[in-house]
Amino acid sequence: MDEALKVAKFGGTLVSRPEMYDRMAKVLRADPTRRFVVVSAVAGVTDSLVTTIAKPREEKEIDLYLGEIRRKHLGLLPPAGDGVDGTVAAVEALCTKLERLLYGVAYTEEITPRTRDFVLSFGERISAQVVAANLRARGIDAWPHEADLIGLMTDDNYGNATALLPETREHLAPFLRRQADAGRVSVVTGFFGLSPEGKTATFGRGGSDYSAAVIGHALELPVVEVWKDVGGFMSADPKIVPEAFPLSLLSYDEAAELSYFGAKVLHPRAVQPARAGSASIVLRNIFRPDDVGTRIGPDTVDRSGDVKSVSYVRELATLKVFASGDGFKEGLLAHAATALSNGGVNVYSAATSQTCIAFLVEADQVGRAKKLLTRIPGTVVDRVEVMPHASLICFVGEGLGYAHGVAARVFRAVAELGINVQLISAGASMVAYHFTVDTKDLERAVQAVHREFFPHRHAGPQAVVSPNT
Ligand code: ASP
Ligand code: MG
Repeated sequence: MDEALKVAKFGGTLVSRPEMYDRMAKVLRADPTRRFVVVSAVAGVTDSLVTTIAKPREEKEIDLYLGEIRRKHLGLLPPAGDGVDGTVAAVEALCTKLERLLYGVAYTEEITPRTRDFVLSFGERISAQVVAANLRARGIDAWPHEADLIGLMTDDNYGNATALLPETREHLAPFLRRQADAGRVSVVTGFFGLSPEGKTATFGRGGSDYSAAVIGHALELPVVEVWKDVGGFMSADPKIVPEAFPLSLLSYDEAAELSYFGAKVLHPRAVQPARAGSASIVLRNIFRPDDVGTRIGPDTVDRSGDVKSVSYVRELATLKVFASGDGFKEGLLAHAATALSNGGVNVYSAATSQTCIAFLVEADQVGRAKKLLTRIPGTVVDRVEVMPHASLICFVGEGLGYAHGVAARVFRAVAELGINVQLISAGASMVAYHFTVDTKDLERAVQAVHREFFPHRHAGPQAVVSPNT
């Protein structure tokens, strides 16, 4: 193999309509180095699996649900006669397996994190079959593979697993390389791999981007493409800031911070394997295949500007833990953070003072977080206060850690609108700052930050220069 090959990931909406398979086939034909395809589940399928196992189900419900799943996927197959019989059988077999699994959950009325991950993985398993069959019907020699069966190795952190990169390189790469050498396109399931105890472990919601980066790393590929039905990263969410514009380059850290803090463009951890292999992740729009999209790579650090993009997370809440004992802060911070993380609560940010520690968590985890914080072992907590309706705003730029007064500019711009800034985190990262506001002020605050850094894009009345001056 002389020219470097590529891995191309296609998300849920891109694997859910025959018209999309046409586009996908065109993309693969346009560049035959795209020999590895990673797919998500058909749009809505993972969500429906999550809902189905959220509570015990009657047999009848399970039968109805499986009927739907079968119909949905079989309906996406190319017309019979296109050598599709094997795929129909494979889809049926996967549905039968899923059905038995759901019955098992219903009978035992209990679901472990392991079983949960196994159930959730079926969306991708079925979609890989459907996609490969559709690509073959369009003249591409494409074959489906389930990542856990071909050696994508993970740790045992079910629901939020991390790939074991050296092991995956050892097990997965030789197999996929042989497929490519034989001229085949491999369609690999995203979202999960195989844990050390031989079980399926998922990478968390949206994890197929991460899978693509892991597979790219295993094969030592320089480029991981993530195809979407929208463009890549932008200077802000265009739904809130109509003046937002696309960004063609971002650093690994900028992309990771934006993804973690709300930009729903890429899985936050996808940059890890890419960085480990000095590979570029390129986000591309299937409706505009000639656009450059956004590239995130080893050579894309640009410290010349201030801020590149602003993102946000809605639906958070601040929990303030008060205690008065001497030296309380040091011990409590560690204990509280451990208690929250062991209890499965994701902390977005934390700030401390002498008598109080504030944690920013997802709104739907507040109840659990409060319980955990009230009874932290070995500490006397006076009280825990909940401040609901917080939203976080994050702004990133590689130059931030070097520039002076950037944060001050942001807070002034926001304060001028009479918006109260609550929690501020500056300096934890060299490339990202974040702060929180009351959710009712979120939109205006995001607009203010964007306007502060990209005033020329906001050509309002203030920006018009009068001819008399
Ligand atoms: N199907 C999984 C999800 O919906 C993984 C992915 O789409 O990336 O979260
Ligand atoms: Mg996604």
